[in-house]
Amino acid sequence: MTEQSSPQSQKTLFGTETNPSHVMPAKLTLDSRIKFRCHPGVSCFTACCGNINITLTPFDILRLRKHLNLAAPEFLHQYTVPQYLEKTDMPGVKIKLTEEGRCPFVTPDGCTAYSSRPTTCRYYPVGMANFHERSDEDAEKATDQQFFFLVKEPHCKGHEESKEWTIREWREDQGVDVCDEMNRDWMALVMRRKSFGLQATLSEKAQRMFFMASTDLDQFRRFIFESSFIDTYEIDPEELERIREDDIALMKLSYRYLASSLFGTNDLPIKAEKIKAKAQEIKKKQADVEKNADSTYQELKEFRDNMLAELNNKKQTP
Ligand code: SF4
Ligand code: SF4
Repeated sequence: MTEQSSPQSQKTLFGTETNPSHVMPAKLTLDSRIKFRCHPGVSCFTACCGNINITLTPFDILRLRKHLNLAAPEFLHQYTVPQYLEKTDMPGVKIKLTEEGRCPFVTPDGCTAYSSRPTTCRYYPVGMANFHERSDEDAEKATDQQFFFLVKEPHCKGHEESKEWTIREWREDQGVDVCDEMNRDWMALVMRRKSFGLQATLSEKAQRMFFMASTDLDQFRRFIFESSFIDTYEIDPEELERIREDDIALMKLSYRYLASSLFGTNDLPIKAEKIKAKAQEIKKKQADVEKNADSTYQELKEFRDNMLAELNNKKQTP
């Protein structure tokens, strides 16, 4: 157990559920200074590791299950419960609390998963706002629009400590920067989906794929190497070799794959010959439909002509 624990009673991962009355009305920058320290000596120590909603990102899941030395299915079964992310139809998971409503990793001495604690735990009490989807073109702009805020809840005595930090130092100390880097593209997918509102729904197949790629990288790796994935997508051979062993590279590839397959981006381009084959298949289907429509029309026409001829015959017969 290390000196600090960073629990929280509000979900801050996507910055949407923090009680506004606890948010200090000041926009902070990376150079703003805050006074805060969480350590075993505070009277509230670990008090806030309960009755919380800790959404897990793919990076959180990877790190926690490595820490616990568990395969993804065991980890998910033992420590998580499913939930929809950010009121979208994207399925994800959050930490399963004990019957007493406590985080399964908390003990009176602090967090037993401290070095691998989730992103949400690392953020507290500094939230980040105006999180923008980043692309190469507007990366600088997105960074410019970022700002930070402090969450001060009455029960949290860490704010009464004298230790002073800049936001930059605090984030670095808590490993938030690394989490941001690892989570950014995945969170952008969720926010993008959210921006669509209820206008469209993800198919069950798409939901299953999103869940699998987000929670079980071993299974996603099998999907890559044992399905038609490699024949379908343009993927650099070196990257392909790397993802056999490198989970982080695999996780980043999964984000690109999800962006392409769910939102039709070009993050992971489809091979030209596949597009050509698909176009030919569609063309053939269209030709078949036209051919069928033509023969159906001819059949109907013949039927109608026969009927008319029959009626005419009847009329002429006295
Ligand atoms: S993971 Fe650790 S820091 Fe986060 S709520 Fe659980 S015990 Fe607290
Ligand atoms: S100081 Fe704040 S973050 Fe630390 S244990 Fe107390 S309530 Fe939780």
